[in-house]
This record gives sequence, structure tokens and C-alpha cells, in this order.
Amino acid sequence: MPSSFTLRMQFGPHQDVDEIIPELLKLVQIAPIDEVLFFYYGEELNDGHDTIERVKEWIEHSRPYRKALEEAGVTISLNPWHSLLHCDRYRKLKPGQNWQTMVDPNGRAAEAVVCPLDEGWREYYAETLRLYAREGFRVIWVDDDIRLANHTPLEWGGCFCPLHVAEFNRRAGTDATREEIVANCTASGTPHPWREIWLDMWDATQRELIARWREIVEAEGSRLGLMSSSPEAHAAEGRRWEKWWEALAGDKPPIHRPNYWGYSDTLGSALLSSIAALDQNRIVQPDEVENGPEVECFPYGRWNKSFRQIGAQMALGQIMGASDLKISVYDQIGNLPSDEPQRAEFLRGWRPACDWLADEFPMSLQPVGVGIPWSQDMGRQIHTDGSGKWQSLVCPSRGWASWLGSAGHAFSMRPSPVINALGGPVVWSFSDGQLREWLSRAVLIDGVAASILLERGMGELIGVRSGHFITQSNVLYSIENCLDEAFALRVGAQMSVNDKRYADGLFQAELGKGARVVSDLRSPTFEVVGHGLVIFENELGGRVALVPWSANADVQMNPQRAAQLNKVMEYLDPENHHGYVEGGAWLVPQFLADDERWRGVVWNASPDELEEFSIYPPSGLGEPSSVVQVNARGERIEAQVDSNCVMLSRPVQQWEFVVVA
Ligand SMILES: [Zn+2]
Repeated sequence: MPSSFTLRMQFGPHQDVDEIIPELLKLVQIAPIDEVLFFYYGEELNDGHDTIERVKEWIEHSRPYRKALEEAGVTISLNPWHSLLHCDRYRKLKPGQNWQTMVDPNGRAAEAVVCPLDEGWREYYAETLRLYAREGFRVIWVDDDIRLANHTPLEWGGCFCPLHVAEFNRRAGTDATREEIVANCTASGTPHPWREIWLDMWDATQRELIARWREIVEAEGSRLGLMSSSPEAHAAEGRRWEKWWEALAGDKPPIHRPNYWGYSDTLGSALLSSIAALDQNRIVQPDEVENGPEVECFPYGRWNKSFRQIGAQMALGQIMGASDLKISVYDQIGNLPSDEPQRAEFLRGWRPACDWLADEFPMSLQPVGVGIPWSQDMGRQIHTDGSGKWQSLVCPSRGWASWLGSAGHAFSMRPSPVINALGGPVVWSFSDGQLREWLSRAVLIDGVAASILLERGMGELIGVRSGHFITQSNVLYSIENCLDEAFALRVGAQMSVNDKRYADGLFQAELGKGARVVSDLRSPTFEVVGHGLVIFENELGGRVALVPWSANADVQMNPQRAAQLNKVMEYLDPENHHGYVEGGAWLVPQFLADDERWRGVVWNASPDELEEFSIYPPSGLGEPSSVVQVNARGERIEAQVDSNCVMLSRPVQQWEFVVVA
């Protein structure tokens, strides 16, 4: 099955269509492009919620170039740039738009971002959808501003307006104020029952809206598509994915465009979070889905994101299972593709590699590695910090992916039957039974996870009797010192725990019988001031490794920490069910398998080049026998593998990768 390229573009009503048409026809031929997804009233051309007259202008103005592309065999879809509106950015409602705007937890009202419950706006938006649907677009997209988070200038987002408060009171049988609702929903300790009711209310009313839009759009033969943001953000608005798919697509395969990469060039370290985000999206999607990962590069041009990195982003989208790629490399002001012909050439250069990757990585493949469990319910279950901020419902879930991936260990955001890593407050999302099952196998836990397990009465399963957090303000720790060769590069190897976010607070326990301290904490004068890594085998026969620091913070990796984590993995997973690589900093492995095949991918996320590395696929998958290197131009180069050692004729540079089978 070949890959499919969907370009996202915009040309405004102020432009000459006779100039646009030949440009587009040339572009789709060069790249080549299967589908163009046009924006209306996006970014620089957005003036708030356009009037129906203005919307009609957009439709009519775009008709000639849409028709020209259709005649050239290109499919056309539409992405109205907003539903609720992403952010005010000094925009205001227009005369006659007497709509309730979005209100944040503090009661601040937006000036243009609307409340999704406002009947007037709902009628207006439904009318725009009716107009679009008659145009025969394959898909009409709901942009991810339908989410409730991230609507600046509001704090966190909304909506906590009187309409929403009234709807909550109706459902809960209460007479609460916004202030009381926010205070209870964000209260520390066991979640207040109102949190579930509030999030159910948000989720259900949003889904009702989506389902209504689907009816409008499908009545004319189009489909509705949905873009989404980070899984953590959606969990804090209570999103229940399986119900969203039903609202969006009924019994048809949903059409989804997940975000997974920064809009600008990122450091190599961000690759891990991108892999994890795509994996999380694949987990919440049904098997039958149209998955089009979004390759967004705003603001546009090579100064913002290099072709090298866009190529890597496209390849990762394909590796994680994509029906097509939604690619934005052209601005939304209406500049001409011929202004920078290199962009079309870039797409053309990558197309054969994407076709090949689509064949090599069918959507049936699933990631294999250390399990990093998470839950769509984590925002409902998290015990907050008591700050009263809605942001305290945003539960980090990808921390261990970054730490393990940067040390060369493969991971999956699905639970593993063999080895799992639990980091931070996501532990609140799981039942006692689930946690005990994981603890009966092999588990890597960070300080926050350990404290929660202790609070939930599972201290004896992790070798902990009691515990508390220390900071540098009450115990002047600065160094972690290795004591045991079996869990270190060498005895005396040291890692800094000084002034870095991952070590802001360290969990210190009174350890149970059998718990083994294999590194300790030292003061600047090298006095022992606490324990570091603790190893324990529990009564269920499970193996536990406990680090006192937080996995949900920027990775601080060095040879000593990497060696410690490698040996921890050896202890927790002696038969190597997860898979790993060795040989370079930021050498990041992925392993994927289905019933018929397995594939490995090894990324160089470091600016330093690499010519040789070792690969150890998860046991049971097979030995590596073929290696293909893909460079930043999308060129494929055969390479050698001897036992576990991969040797490249040309070094692999940053954002390039090697496919192993
Ligand atoms: Zn509202």
C-alpha cells in the first residue's frame, strides 16, 4: 500500500485565482499530492467568527481552484480553521454575534472564543457546515480548538460560563457557583464526586455537538474529521475517546488527525515524547481508523523547521501506522508555492521512502517494549496538588518514555505483560488489582509513583514501610553515588542530583526487609544523606526498582545514569522482552510487531553522527538480518548487520534512522 500525502493550504478571497490554479496544478504533480485540505479564515486571515456572507465568499472564491484540482485527480477536503476559535488574539465578536464567550475557572470571559453551549453560535456554526457540505468536500475537519483547554488569554481554558454552571447544576441537582465547582473539582485528596459529574457534563455536551455536526455533514455525503492535541490535555477535559469516535463517525471508521511534534525545529530529546504521543493516539483509536498524523510547521519555512526534521516527522508518522500524512509546509497567507520550489522537491524526494515505509509498517504493527501505562481517565482520577488550578488535573504520562528511550530502551504506551514503568501521579488512574498484577511481574517506579503506592497500601510490595519527600532546602543532597557494581557503571560512579527539576523533590523511605540500597545520596562534602536506587523482590515474586527522583522532568542522561538504567533493565527483564540498543547518546530504538512480522527502527536523535551500534530486539521476535538506512533526503542505503552489530557505510546523522528486520 503506498503512502498518501495530504497538503494543507490556504488562499484568501483577496487573491487572483488565475494565479493560484497553475501553481497548484504544478505543485500536486511534482510532489505528488493525493489530497489538498484547504483552510478557510485561518491564522493571519482570521478576523474572528466570519459572517455567513464572508463564509460564502470563501466558498465561492475557492471553487475554481478546487474544481481544477479535482479535474486533475486530486481529492479536496476542508479545514475550517476554527470552531470555538483557538484564541482571542485581540479578535472580538462582530455586531449581531451576541454569543456567550468562553469563561475560564477564574471567571474571566474571552472576547471572541465562544462557549460551545451558546445556541446562537451553534446555529451559526451549523449553518456554515451546511454550506460547506454542499460543496462535496471528502472530509470537513473539526479543528482541535473544539477542545476546552488552551484558549488564550484564558487561564487553562473553559468553559465555566453561566450556561455550563447551570447545566452542571441541572445534572448534579445542586445550586453551586462556579467558584464552588472549581474548588471541589480541583480539591486535593480523593477526587470530589463533582469532578466526575463536571467532566461527564463537558464530555457529553461536546459529543452532542459533534454528533449533530456529523448528521449535517453526512447528509450531503461528506465525512467529519477530528484533530486532537495531547492526550494529557484531553484527559483534563474528561474526554472519553470511544464515545467521541461514535459521535464523530457513527459506525464508520473515524477520521483522525493527531498532533505529535512541535511546530518548530526541536531538540533530539523531543523525539521520545513524539513517539509516545503517536502511540497513545493509536491506543485510543479503534482498529478501523483513518489516521493522518499532522505534520505542522507553523510559522513556515526552513528557518523554522528544517527539511531534515520534517522528513523525520513524516517518517515517524508512517512508522507508527498512518493512512496518510497531513502535511503543512506552505503558509496560510497565500504566498505562492513557486516562491520556494525546494518544498515541492523535498516532498517529491521523500515520497518513495514514505511509500516504502507504508509497506514496511502496516497499521497492524504494534509497539513492543517496556510498558508505560496511562489512562484516558487520568484527569478524572489524579489527586491534585491542591493549588485550585484546573491545570492540576493535567496528569503527565510520558516521562519514562523519555528516560528509557534516551538510554536506548524500547517502550510502548500499552501495559506490558512482563515489565512496566510507572512514573508520577498517573498511578492514581489504575485499580489496586491492576497495580498488583504489574507489581507481581517487574516494575520500575519513580519517587512520586512510590509515594502513591505507599499511600494506597502497597508499600510492602515495593519494599517501603513509610516515606516522605526531601528537597535541597531541608537536606543538602547534590550527588547520587553508586554502591553496587550490579547496578552501576562501576562502584563509585556518580550522578548529579543538584539543581535539576528531576531531583527537585526526592522520595526517601524507611525501607522494608529485603529492600536493597544500591546507590546513596551524598552532600557536597560527600556525607551520606539518603538512599538512591532501591531494589526489591516482593512477596508476589515481582521485581521492583525504585528511583527517588521524578521521571516527569527533563532527562539528565550521562554514561553513569545510562549504565545504571541499563543494569536495572537487565535485572527487571533478564530475558529482554523489551528490546534495546547500545552505541550512542540519543540512539533511540522502536520495535513493532504483529502476528506475521517485526520491524525495528533506530533513530539518531543526537547531533553527533554514528557509524556502528548494537541492536538487541525483544526476545521472541527474531534476529536482525536486514538493515536499511534512511537519510535526511529520504534516500535508502543498504547496510550490514553481523550478529547484533549494525555497520553503516555512511554515518547516520541527526534525525536519520535505520530500519531493521
Ligand atoms: Zn460555557
